Amino acid sequence: MPIVKPTPETIAAAAEALRRGDLVAFPTETVYGLGADATNSRAVARVFEAKGRPRFNPLIAHVADLAAAERIASFPPLARRLAEAFWPGPLTLVLRKRLAGKISDFVTVGLETVAVRVPAHPVALALLAAAEIPVAAPSANRSGHVSPTLANHVLDDLGDIPALILDGGPTAHGLESTIIDASEHDIVQLRAGALPAEAIERFLAIRINRAAEAVDPATGERPIAPGQLASHYAPGAPLRLEATHTRPGEALLAFGPDALRHDGSTFNLSPTGDLVEAGANLFAALRKLDASHPTAIAVMPIPDTGLGEAINDRLRRGAAPK
Ligand code: AMP
Ligand code: MG
Repeated sequence: MPIVKPTPETIAAAAEALRRGDLVAFPTETVYGLGADATNSRAVARVFEAKGRPRFNPLIAHVADLAAAERIASFPPLARRLAEAFWPGPLTLVLRKRLAGKISDFVTVGLETVAVRVPAHPVALALLAAAEIPVAAPSANRSGHVSPTLANHVLDDLGDIPALILDGGPTAHGLESTIIDASEHDIVQLRAGALPAEAIERFLAIRINRAAEAVDPATGERPIAPGQLASHYAPGAPLRLEATHTRPGEALLAFGPDALRHDGSTFNLSPTGDLVEAGANLFAALRKLDASHPTAIAVMPIPDTGLGEAINDRLRRGAAPK
C-alpha cells in the first residue's frame, strides 16, 4: 500500500525517492501530481509510460520558489510580476528554457520553452524544498482520464507505480492550474484553470488573449498549444452537456439550487451555485457518477464566468469524441 500520511519522515523519504529517479505522487492545491526528477530523462520517461501519455504532450516543472524557477527559465518583466503576485499558486507560466537548468528534453518535448509552477500546498512545497530538484508532475491519473483529487483516485488509476503516494486529503481547487504563455511580450492563456483569467486581467489591467481565439496572421490558422488535446478529462460514460432534462439510464451532474428532478444517480456540484465549490467537486463527482455505469452523464449548464471557464473547458473536453 503506497499511500502514506505526510510527515517529516515520509516527505524526506519521498524526496529521496525522487532523487533516485523513482516516481512519487503528491498533493497540490489543484490536483494530485505524479512527480519525477525533471532533470532525469529516464525518470520522466517513466511518467509518460505510467500515464500512457502521448510523448508530444509536455510536462510542467514544479519548483519550491521563484529563485528555483529562475534557474530553469528566463522571466520577462510581465512574467516576473505574475510570478510575484500569484506564486505559490495555481498559475503555470510558459517561459523560455535556460539550458543551465538541465531540464530534460522529455519534459519540454524538445520545445525551447518550459512550463513552470510553484504550487501552494505545504506538502508539495516541503517535498520540493527537500528534493532540491525541479519536479515534472502531470496529474497522477491515466492519460485522458479525469484528474485525481484524492489519494485513493491515484491508487485506482496507477496502483503501486508511484513509490509513495503522499495523502494530503482532498485538493482545495480540484481543477488544474491556469497556463499562461509569458515567454514573449504578449501573454496568452493556453489553458483555463484554477486561477480565473479575470483575476490576472484585473491585476495587469489588460485583457488576456485566449489561445483558442488566437489566429496566426500569416496562415489564418489557429496555433495548437501543445497538449491541448480535444478529448481529455473524460469519464467512461459519455457526457451530454447543457442538459435541460434527463433520459432513462442517465446519471445527472447538477448545478445550483434549481437542479433538474432525476430518479437515477445524481450529484449536485454546488446546490448554492458556488463555482469554487463546483470546481473542487467536479472530478470526484464524475468518478462517482461513472461508477454507477450510466448510459450517459447529463450535465446541467454552468455559467461561463470566473472558474466556470475552466469547469466548462474540462466538461467540453470530457465530452469530445475519444
Ligand atoms: P498537465 O497535463 O496538467 O500536466 O499540464 C501540462 C500542460 O501544460 C500540457 O498539456 C501543455 O498544454 C502545457 N505545456 C507544458 N509545457 C508547455 C510548453 N513548453 N509550451 C506550451 N504548453 C506547455
Ligand atoms: Mg492531466
